[in-house]
This record gives sequence, structure tokens and C-alpha cells, in this order.
Amino acid sequence: MKARIPYTKPSITELEVAYATDAAANGWGSRCYEYIDRFEREFASYLGVKHAIATSSCTGALHMGLAALGIGAGDEVILADCNWVASVAPVVHLGATPVFVDILPDSWCLDPERVQAAITPRTKAIIAVHLYGNVCEMDTLRHIAAENDIALIEDAAEAMGAVYHGSRAGSMGRFATFSFHGTKTMTTGEGGMFVTNDSDLYEQVLTLSNHGRARGQSRQFWPDVIGYKYKMSNIQAAIGCAQLTRIDELVGRKRDILQAYRDALQDYPLMLNPEPAGTVNGAWMPTVVFSSQSGVRTEKLQAAFAAESIDARVFFSPLSSTAMFEPCPANRIAWDIPTRAINLPSFHDMHDAELARVVAVIKHCLG
Ligand SMILES: *Cc1c(COP(=O)(O)O)cnc(C)c1O
Repeated sequence: MKARIPYTKPSITELEVAYATDAAANGWGSRCYEYIDRFEREFASYLGVKHAIATSSCTGALHMGLAALGIGAGDEVILADCNWVASVAPVVHLGATPVFVDILPDSWCLDPERVQAAITPRTKAIIAVHLYGNVCEMDTLRHIAAENDIALIEDAAEAMGAVYHGSRAGSMGRFATFSFHGTKTMTTGEGGMFVTNDSDLYEQVLTLSNHGRARGQSRQFWPDVIGYKYKMSNIQAAIGCAQLTRIDELVGRKRDILQAYRDALQDYPLMLNPEPAGTVNGAWMPTVVFSSQSGVRTEKLQAAFAAESIDARVFFSPLSSTAMFEPCPANRIAWDIPTRAINLPSFHDMHDAELARVVAVIKHCLG
């Protein structure tokens, strides 16, 4: 039996261990927020935004941001049909209605024309998810959002390191959210971040994130509104600070792995994550979409990778094909691409021999 190749695995060095150890030993009492404050400050600076709030997850950050925008019952929120459920769950928790639109065949992100067509008087927001490190067409989406006076939100959980026309993914929306789950480009174990340039929205989310206690409230244990409890711990933030000092290395390695797959597979009937002019792909998850003509289907890929002890993950199914929502098979591309696609392993310490094993399985499936 060959050694298993995991699909992701964080890169934890002595630096992360030293920071976490310091936080565990000393980060209490009057110092209990030191790493959290530093992580928020340095993350905002890396991204080029004014405000950041560390959270326990991306899902929590999204939940609070949507709540702060006043999104609730009777409102519609547009997002792409192919997404992880975390991007839509907070919409449902708030009682709003998700509207799933089709994806583009090359970026696998939401199609701006479909977004435009889906807008109604009840539309309150668009959630642009930068899928697998690929960036959404932000200029067109920003235009649509501005014309219709609705919020454009970025779920940038998969887009650390991605850039669109000089702006980092996560710096362009009304607000954006990130995830530091163990599978993501940088990790704190579990964790997330809310970021925004809107100072009023920042104050509102700060209040919501602190059990509804406003910053200026001098009365002790005195909530001003019902808030949330989605905080990051100081120990997690310490690991985040260490990871952030290594972010160029972490993203660079992801990009090198994607490029290695591109080089090895360029003559085959398939496509990988695109990188249009003026953009940098964050390369969180190298993904192969086989041409329809190739006849390669996801089930065959899963079986072939499993036989070689390689963790390859399926492309996100259309959310509208799950039991909780009305099916939208009219989202033809979203219902088609996942049937002939697979996510490839891309962890930081991956060896060339492991890459070669993955490539061999793909060639075998095509052969
Ligand atoms: C991972 C992920 C999330 C969820 O992140 P958590 O930190 O686990 O809440 C949300 N959106 C996208 C696009 C993700 O990839």
C-alpha cells in the first residue's frame, strides 16, 4: 500500500509553536487580547483595509456582517449555485432567501449577467465567493451593486493571496470574510476574520461580536442589543500572527503547486484554475475540470484516486441540488461542471514524487 497523500495539511513551524506557547504561558489577565489586537491590525494592513475583527469562523463573520446590514426575512441574497454550504447558511439563519445563480465556465464563480438578471426589488446583497482562489469579476459586480444600491460582499475564505487589478481579494466589498480552518491557506485551527473599510459597519459588527455591548457603553454587563459570540481566542490569534509573517511563503507554495500541475497537464483535454490578465490566483485548491468530450466523470476520478491512496475532493455540488433548497437545474454550468471535476492535493510540504503520483492518476483516467 502506498503512503496516503492528504489533500491539505497546514504548515506549522517552530514559529507558530513559539507564538502559541507564549500566548498559553503569558497571554492572560491584562494581556489576554494582545495577540488578537496584533492579528487584527496586521491582517488589515496586509489586506489594505481599515478594519478587521477576528472571529471563531468565517461563517460567524458572515453571519454578523449580514446581520449588521439588516438582512432578514423578505430579503433576497444572490450567490453562485456551486458553493460550500457555509456561504449560504447565515443567509438562511437570518430568515432571508438565497437566490442561486449560474457560474462562469472558466472561473467557476458567479456569472455577473445572471446576477443582473436575478435582481428584484427585494435583493439586498450579492455574496461573491472567490472559489478555489479564482477571483470573481469584481468590476462588473461592483457596477451592478452600485446601480441597484445593494451590498457587494466578498467571501474570501478561499482567496488568501489572490489579487484583482491591484486590490487584494477581500478588500473590495462592502465587507469581506476569511476562514482560518485547518484546510485553508493559512490557519489558526479554527478561526475567521471580518474586514471592512466602512467605519460604521465596523462599529456595528464590533458591538454584535461583543455580546451586543457597544464600545462606548460604560455600564458593566450592559448589552445594548442582542449580539453574537463568535470570538477568536488569544492562543488562536498567536498562531495566526505567526502564519501571517509567513503568508508570502504559504501563498507562493500554493501557486508553485498549481503551476506544477499546469505544466504537467497542459497538453490534456482539461482546464485548471484560470488566471486572467490583471489578476493573481490565490491557488488555494488546484482543481481540474475535464472537457465534456474527454468522457471522464467524477465517480471514475474518485475511484482512481482512492485506489492510489490519494485524497482528491469532489467539486462543490450545486447548493440548489441539496434537500434544503428548490432545485435550479437551469443553472446548467453549475449542474454540469461538478460531474467532471476534482480538487487535487496541494499541501505546503508536498514532494515532487507525490505531485507525480497525482498527475499519473489523471493521465491514467484519460488514457
Ligand atoms: C471554508 C469556507 C467557509 C467556512 O469557513 P469556516 O471558518 O469553517 O466557517 C466559508 N466560505 C468559504 C468559501 C469557505 O471555503
